[in-house]
Amino acid sequence: MSRVYNFSAGPAVLPEKVLSRAAAEMLEYGTTGQSVMEMSHRSKEYQAIIDETERLLREIMSIPNNYKVLFLQGGASSQFAMVPLNLLNKTGKADFVITGQWAKKAYEEASRFGDCTIVASSKDKTFSYIPQLDKSKFNPTADYFHICQNNTIYGTRFTELPDTGNVPLVADMSSCILSEPVDVSKYGLIYAGAQKNMGPAGLTVVIIREDLIGGARESCPTMFNYQIHAENGSMYNTPPTYGIYILMLVLEWVKEMGGLEAMKIHNEKKAAIIYDFLDNSKLFKPTVMGKDRSLMNVPFVTGNEELDAKFVSEAKKAGFINLKGHRSVGGMRASIYNAMPIEGVQKLVEFMEKFEKENAQ
Ligand SMILES: *Cc1c(COP(=O)(O)O)cnc(C)c1O
Repeated sequence: MSRVYNFSAGPAVLPEKVLSRAAAEMLEYGTTGQSVMEMSHRSKEYQAIIDETERLLREIMSIPNNYKVLFLQGGASSQFAMVPLNLLNKTGKADFVITGQWAKKAYEEASRFGDCTIVASSKDKTFSYIPQLDKSKFNPTADYFHICQNNTIYGTRFTELPDTGNVPLVADMSSCILSEPVDVSKYGLIYAGAQKNMGPAGLTVVIIREDLIGGARESCPTMFNYQIHAENGSMYNTPPTYGIYILMLVLEWVKEMGGLEAMKIHNEKKAAIIYDFLDNSKLFKPTVMGKDRSLMNVPFVTGNEELDAKFVSEAKKAGFINLKGHRSVGGMRASIYNAMPIEGVQKLVEFMEKFEKENAQ
């Protein structure tokens, strides 16, 4: 077996320890005589798994007691509709910061259900920065204020949260959840697809303040109503059972690594290695400058499309895969989620140094 260094933006690398454990438990979980995949979600063995997953997530993220944790399906993209269907219930208005394609999709979907306003955008420079926010433009009576906290495609992140006062802050954390500590009490709702930092695709985690539950509009489909899922412990229907189990293993790994403070240091180290190289390279250039740089997704270019393609292809042959940038940015992108080891980033940089020498112009 030879495992590659996988820089995919998602589905993405998972800790090897987690995969080995899942492999070891594939045929029989504990002494149950069955795989987790084969278990009834109503069994007491499975209930113990989902309970432990929630307990670990609450512990690791310090989730306050007045928040519910929901394990759903449909991806972060379903949350673009689920959030407005449940939260747009007083003034029917919401504010959005457009920092990339995902933020734009959240805005467009919510606009089907209410009166949505763009308070700031960084579209003018291909979303290569987080726009300055002017609080006087925020609607103080909005039902929610939406941000995409880490912009997977463009490689930017919010390092400071908007001060939305009493307006609930809703954050898409798909590509940064568990990468560093966050103060959950500053948010009304956090959502994340699991396939970046938490586990396999098919699981979506929602962390929602209790007072925001129960306001879904009459026409809201049952499966899109947070209250239904909250009242049924995420078991209104069959939850993504295996994905939740893998999340449990990932959370155990995060805890072993020292929790989110340690994860942050680990991630900052990795990001520094690659950004330092990019800042000094004569061939590769980072597309994001300054404090808005993501710790998770690092886009870069050579400025020459042919050379970009050559790099991606040679990198692949050398065991560094999924480095092709998103089609809207071009170039390359190295996604360096929690499970990417420091060694992976060091070796990538060594490879880039070598490529730079060989392709000096
Ligand atoms: C990947 C991603 C999404 C889309 O997630 P799906 O689970 O595919 O719907 C949305 N937002 C962000 C920030 C992402 O990184």
